This record gives sequence, C-alpha cells and structure tokens, in this order.
Amino acid sequence: MHRGRPHRPRRLTTQLVTWRTNLKSNERSRVALVTGAAGFIGSHLVDRLLSQGWQVRGVDRRSPTGDAVSGRNLAYALASQEFMFEPVDVTDPRVGDMVDGADVVFHLAASTGVRGSWGKAFLSYVHDNVAATHHLIEECERARVPRLVLASSSSVYGGTASFPSREDGPVLPMSPYGVSKLAGEHLALAYAARPDAATRAVALRFFTVYGPRQREDMAISRMLDAVRTGQPMRLYGDGSQRRNFTYVSDVVDALLRAAQTETTGCAVNVAGPLTVSLRDLLDTVREVTGRPVPIKQVPERSGDPESTEADPNLAESVLGYRPSVSLAEGICHQWAWSQANINSAVSERNL
Ligand code: NAD
Repeated sequence: MHRGRPHRPRRLTTQLVTWRTNLKSNERSRVALVTGAAGFIGSHLVDRLLSQGWQVRGVDRRSPTGDAVSGRNLAYALASQEFMFEPVDVTDPRVGDMVDGADVVFHLAASTGVRGSWGKAFLSYVHDNVAATHHLIEECERARVPRLVLASSSSVYGGTASFPSREDGPVLPMSPYGVSKLAGEHLALAYAARPDAATRAVALRFFTVYGPRQREDMAISRMLDAVRTGQPMRLYGDGSQRRNFTYVSDVVDALLRAAQTETTGCAVNVAGPLTVSLRDLLDTVREVTGRPVPIKQVPERSGDPESTEADPNLAESVLGYRPSVSLAEGICHQWAWSQANINSAVSERNL
C-alpha cells in the first residue's frame, strides 16, 4: 500500500488540475517530469527534486506494485504528496498530459545495457531510445516546455582512439546500444537547433554511473555481490579495460545544473574524477569491503570499448559541474546500501 498520492490516477488530467490548484498562485513550485523514474538514476533524481521542493511527475513502464525494483527505488517518492506516477510507456498518450505545464523534462527512460542490444533485441532499443525519445521531444515542443535534459552515454564515443573524449570530437559507437543513444541525442539536438524551437535541449553523456540502486548487470554491483555471496563474478577480458566511474549524486548534480543553464543544442560529458582499470577497481573494492572479489576470467564481449575517459572542460564551463565523490567513497556508500538492502529483503521474506 502506497502512502501519499495514488500512483495510478483514474483521470490524469483532472488530477493534475487539482494538484496545481491546491497551491496558492504565489507559491507555485517548479514542475519536473522525469521519464525512467523507477530506474537507477531516475529514482535518485526524483528524490533530489522532491527534497528541493519541486513537484515531480514520474513516468516508467515498471510499476511499483508489479515490479520489486521499481517499488524499492520509488519508496521515498511515493510517500510524498508532491509526487505522481504513471506506469506507462513514454509513447503512451497520457504522457502528453504530464508534459503539459512542466518547467523541465528530464528524459532518462531507455533500454540500457550494451550486451543485450545485439540481434533482435535491437528493435526494443529502437523503440525506447529513438522512437520514444522522438515522441517526447514532439510533446515538449507542442506544450512549449522550456527545457529538456536528455540522458546520453559515453557509449557514443565507442572506438574513437583519442583520449580524453571531447564533445566536439569523433563519435564511433561500437554497439547497437551506443548507436541508439547517439540517434536519440542527435534527434534532441536537431529539434533544439531549429530557429522556431520552443524547447531548449542539452544531452548529457554519462560515463559509467554507480552507487546505491545500481543496476544488477553493472560491474560494481556484480563485484559487491561476488564479495557478499562468495560466488565468482565473470571478468570479461584481462581487466585492463579502463572506465571513468561517476557517482550517482554527481550525475544528479549535473542534471539539475543542466536544467538551469540557458545553453541549448549541445552534448556535455558528465564523468567522475578519474579513469581506472577494472583491476584497479577490484583493488578498491577489496580495500573498501576488506575482502577480495572472487573472479572468473572469460573472453571479452563485443561492444565494450577498451577505455572511456571524459574531457571535463565543457561540463565545467557550461554547467559549472565538477564531480565531488571519490571512487573509494562512492563504493563505500554502495557497499553499505547493498548490505542494508539484502538484510531488509531477508527480514521481509522471514515475516
Ligand atoms: P535503468 O534501466 O535503471 O532505468 C531506465 C528506466 O527506463 C527503467 O526503469 C525502464 O523501465 C524505463 N523505460 C525504458 N524504456 C521505457 C519506455 N519506453 N517507457 C517507459 N519507461 C521506460 O537505467 P539507468 O542506469 O538508470 O539509466 C538511465 C539513463 O541513463 C538511460 O537513458 C541510460 O541510457 C543512461 N546512461 C546510464 C549509464 C549508467 O552507467 N547507468 C551510463 C550512460 C548513460
């Protein structure tokens, strides 16, 4: 049973009107729509926006009543009167009602994961990362939403050989996922570049994000699981691959900064303080948890670039963004969260 506003309103438009008129005119809060609200990064953004006094509308096709991860990620938000949620696809006509009157739309919904994007699965990536993005941009323009902030990915750089990667440098996605993220990004920037564009848009290229609620398929989640369970994690390749890891609260800072900037029509890197190899990462996890990570080495996967490393200068000049959480500190938070999360799941099962 969710406290606060029911997450499945019978008539969305009526509910939005009531919600707005409950406020006195001089105390209208800023209104944000977050797509992918039940996901890892989206749910952190929703929580931060609520804590800063925004009214937040969330869209995600994973319902908190039907999906345990969604319910867990949205537990704080669903207790707030300032949050409303629609468990629908971004292309659902009801999303148009949620776009109306928004000050900012944060578009984070996407099919994620590089490995799963090959083969027939690509069709769902095209739907989620291209067609749904296109639908949302059209809705933003129709409703004259002033600001769209779109989640893009370091995967758009793919196999480019020069590091650090600059936003005005080459892009060469190595996976269908990267191709779909680049297409979504280019769509948003093409619309924003039109002379009569109503919606200013910025695409943020996130570099490997981690922290509490991180997706289970991601490296740090898998390492912490391996430490906890003693079951070896698969290490693809020899561990020399290098990644720029970014703590989720830093990513949320960048999203909020992007919502406030006047800049439009550009992509901006959002990355953590340094690039490390997976071997170095394994050492950091061992130092934080006090235990080595059991690993099983398997061949490299197609689609994974050898290295990612962001040039941070544009983020600093356009957004005033600088990462503030070190890798060891961030892993410490994620380790504490994953232990608490397992303990609460176990005690719920034992009730
Ligand atoms: P996530 O999978 O945890 O969240 C994405 C959410 O979007 C999911 O809850 C999913 O149900 C929802 N969704 C997908 N398609 C939808 C649709 N058509 N309609 C409604 N809901 C839909 O992923 P995340 O790690 O939080 O990633 C968020 C965004 O950041 C994505 O756009 C992703 O491409 C981007 N990104 C993430 C990382 C990372 O390291 N996590 C790195 C680069 C870019």
